[in-house]
Amino acid sequence: MQGLMMNRPLLIADLLRHGAEAHPAAEVVSSRVEGDLTRHSYAEVRARAAQLAHALCAEGIGTGDRVATLAWNGHRHLELYYGVSGMGAVCHTVNPRLPRGQMEYILRHAAPRLLFADVTFRPVLEGVDVPEGTRVVWLDADGYEAMLAPHPETYDWPEMDEETAAGLCYTSGTTGRPKGALYSHRSTVLHAMMTVIGIPAALCEGARILPVVPMFHVNAWGLPYAAPLAGASLVMPGPRLDGASLFDLMESERVTSAWGVPTVWMGLKAEIERRGRLPEGFAHIVVGGSAAPRALIEAFESRGVTVNHAWGMTEMSPIGTQGDLPSDMEGLSFEKRIEAKGAQGRRIFGVDLRITGEDGAPLPHDGVATGELGVRGHGVISTYYEDDEATEAAMDADGWFRTGDVASIDARGTLRIADRSKDLIKSGGEWISSLDLEDVVMKHPGVAQCAVIAVPHPKWDERPLLIAVAEGEKPEASEIMEMLGTEFARWQLPDDVVWVDALPLTATGKVSKLTLREQFRDHPLPGAPA
Ligand code: AMP
Repeated sequence: MQGLMMNRPLLIADLLRHGAEAHPAAEVVSSRVEGDLTRHSYAEVRARAAQLAHALCAEGIGTGDRVATLAWNGHRHLELYYGVSGMGAVCHTVNPRLPRGQMEYILRHAAPRLLFADVTFRPVLEGVDVPEGTRVVWLDADGYEAMLAPHPETYDWPEMDEETAAGLCYTSGTTGRPKGALYSHRSTVLHAMMTVIGIPAALCEGARILPVVPMFHVNAWGLPYAAPLAGASLVMPGPRLDGASLFDLMESERVTSAWGVPTVWMGLKAEIERRGRLPEGFAHIVVGGSAAPRALIEAFESRGVTVNHAWGMTEMSPIGTQGDLPSDMEGLSFEKRIEAKGAQGRRIFGVDLRITGEDGAPLPHDGVATGELGVRGHGVISTYYEDDEATEAAMDADGWFRTGDVASIDARGTLRIADRSKDLIKSGGEWISSLDLEDVVMKHPGVAQCAVIAVPHPKWDERPLLIAVAEGEKPEASEIMEMLGTEFARWQLPDDVVWVDALPLTATGKVSKLTLREQFRDHPLPGAPA
């Protein structure tokens, strides 16, 4: 027997409508590239998204067309999120930090009709071969604002199938090409609901949230969707992400909860230490994207800021787990609390986790067994966007997505990431592929063998170190960097080159990066603070 309830589609436009109608006091504060600070209610954001939707129709954009963005966090980017998906097109966010080759691949693969870009990214786009069919619109007075101006502030948002594609974000850094996660209206709305339920300490009516996590990658962890649903305000930092700017914005806007990767929080931590106090009202911080260092957790917790160590992936919309402690753990000693927060937290509703051994068999959730982490859920991709090969490699036969992370799960469901697909380097929240770097280095005739490994770094979490064996005369490090510089962004280049007589090998004859990481763990990187 079937239930007798209405079947209303879950649509992204309804998240903003809810914010506009039910939470008129909430606002979107934007520190813009123009240097000013603007305030919009959700109703005002909705009105401007309506103007944008009309403008897109006038441009001939239709259902399923990709409309790309290359922009900082701010109200215009939020209008694009809602205006584009609300009228049936796909909001394709592009990460400006990607190296040229990857950005070109992504633009060719997604083939957006329009690309809305902040003017600060003019130099980035000048270096990129933008496909002919993609027209760039600058997010300034002459471009975007002029495009919106003639159009009405209401739009008849269409009622679509909830499975309609709404957002597209590419992974980066894993070996080979980037892969597209194509979110639907349904997955996005469910993920927003799951996040609001999962992290109520941050996502509640009256809260003021600072997303430092960028809207140009993984939808700023879904905050643009979850905040209007919860009735929380968004304080958008734009391009100013250094510790002092963040401190000032947080204080003047009375931010209650701030979300971002460990690297940016190291900057804020240093600023808090310099001033000897917290920004007024700051009570909660979400740290994810890479493992939160213990010193970071301790520094915030010891000043009374609750640290939520969360984990997720582009392919998961992205939040999988959150680290606010359950109420029965609130009485823990400070030491035990910090220790508990070193783990990546418990799954949010709608996410299933499992770990499997080398034979593919599920392992017990006993906090000891460690295996490959698989996920399943409303916000998890079923396939990559037009990439069968990547899909085949990532999906298990029984429908679980293979994260490539290695983890344990304890009896109460706490996830602890032990390692990740080991060899990647995560610098300042962005991936660097060691294999891709090695491929290029090996093209140098003076290099016989090489390995790029991650070395811990106090500011960037990890930085790449190149370890090489020379073939005859040792080449100059500068020659190798020059070679790499033609194919990689500057921040992706190794910080140092170490020449050795031979590389350690594993039992199966592969270079043992594990041994190298141990050996060079304390290698002093030039320019790194002590
Ligand atoms: P991305 O798709 O760029 O968000 O990267 C996802 C990957 O980042 C995950 O598969 C993990 O390897 C890593 N990651 C994200 N959050 C954490 C965390 N809290 N601790 C450790 N690794 C993390």
